[in-house]
Amino acid sequence: MDAEHAPTLESLLLYADADPDERAIAPPLYQTVPFAAASADEFAAMNDRPLPERAYRRNGNPTQRRLEKVVARLEGAEAAVATASGMGAMTTAILALLESGDHVVAQRSGYGGTLTLLQKLAPRFGVTTTFVDQTDVAAFEGALTPRTRLIVLETPSNPLLQLTDLAAVAAVARARGILTLVDNTIATPVDQRPLALGVDLVMHSVTKALSGHSDVLAGIVAGRREIVERIWDTHVVVGAVISPFDAWLALRGIRTLAMRVEWQDRLALSVARFLEGHAAITRVNYPGLESHPQHDLARRQMRGHGSVVSFELDGGFAAADAFVGSLRLAQRSSSLGGTRSLVVQPAAMWAHYMDDEHLDDAGVPPGLVRLSVGLDNETDLISDLDRALGAADAGRRAAARVGQALRGSRGA
Ligand code: PLP
Repeated sequence: MDAEHAPTLESLLLYADADPDERAIAPPLYQTVPFAAASADEFAAMNDRPLPERAYRRNGNPTQRRLEKVVARLEGAEAAVATASGMGAMTTAILALLESGDHVVAQRSGYGGTLTLLQKLAPRFGVTTTFVDQTDVAAFEGALTPRTRLIVLETPSNPLLQLTDLAAVAAVARARGILTLVDNTIATPVDQRPLALGVDLVMHSVTKALSGHSDVLAGIVAGRREIVERIWDTHVVVGAVISPFDAWLALRGIRTLAMRVEWQDRLALSVARFLEGHAAITRVNYPGLESHPQHDLARRQMRGHGSVVSFELDGGFAAADAFVGSLRLAQRSSSLGGTRSLVVQPAAMWAHYMDDEHLDDAGVPPGLVRLSVGLDNETDLISDLDRALGAADAGRRAAARVGQALRGSRGA
């Protein structure tokens, strides 16, 4: 190997968590809350900046710090703070960076938890948000006010897979000294690196593809050290702290991230192409499809296009429900980015914490299905989708025939 050769992302994923002094092939797990200090001075410094390694666990733990270093390297960030969930990362960042009277610009459609945070919780602390069409850079610019401090983005967005031109929005924000924060959960750092495009902060639901096995709840936010340390100051007060075991599992999952993402990107594209050609499907959202309205942007700012596909069935909510209920492989579940394929009807999932108006605003049609492809065999998965679409369609036709017969008998 050339001495100057910089390691690829694949090598980084495999070796970034190795400590040569430790000689452990799998990193140790520090399942402890407090650490002991050698002196009064050391004790006084133990829970303070820079982000401590061996502290009372709410302030820092070596397994957590190791996860943060790995994700920071993957994202090209100076530092990161890991949290108890993706929402823990988003909420802590919002509380850390904003104060009463501040204004946020965010996209209208995106993960329901983030929308609820900005629509319902942040206003109680005097922080207001203007929601815009994420596909329109001029809309972000037009919504800025002298009190705008932060632009919150999510691209590709959940569940509609719409994109935002990160370089363009970051340039608009930078010119005015406004911070940008991007939820990079669906893309992962394998497919998209927002900081290289000029964004200030990137966050993840580590629960999803980063940990990758549907057994961890965690989040992370990464960026410049000075901003991350501000977030950490709030983090130790909020206390949405990741458990060392979850951090350890996330480190284990990350080592296979590149392989999983590559497999899932390829599978998701095949599934999207299959669905696009199926008569029972009225619309498919996947940035890797040539028919996606922002496909050119997807090719410019992403490497692959993610594991999530969403689509609408002819027949609305009932048809989507029958289809999901007929699947034998993909399971009806609210997560994504894991080893198994998971499928959900976003309208049903989000209805419990969003009213109809906010659901409408988020652009979630009743017949929408979100599929997160796992590590399935392509032929098996597509055959199962095909069979379930057929079963749902047969059910719909039978119901229509009965309805017609009943109307006929009433008329007679
Ligand atoms: N961001 C996105 C895009 C998500 O899909 C989710 C969860 O589904 C979250 C954030 C929240 O993450 P968590 O469930 O880890 O709090």
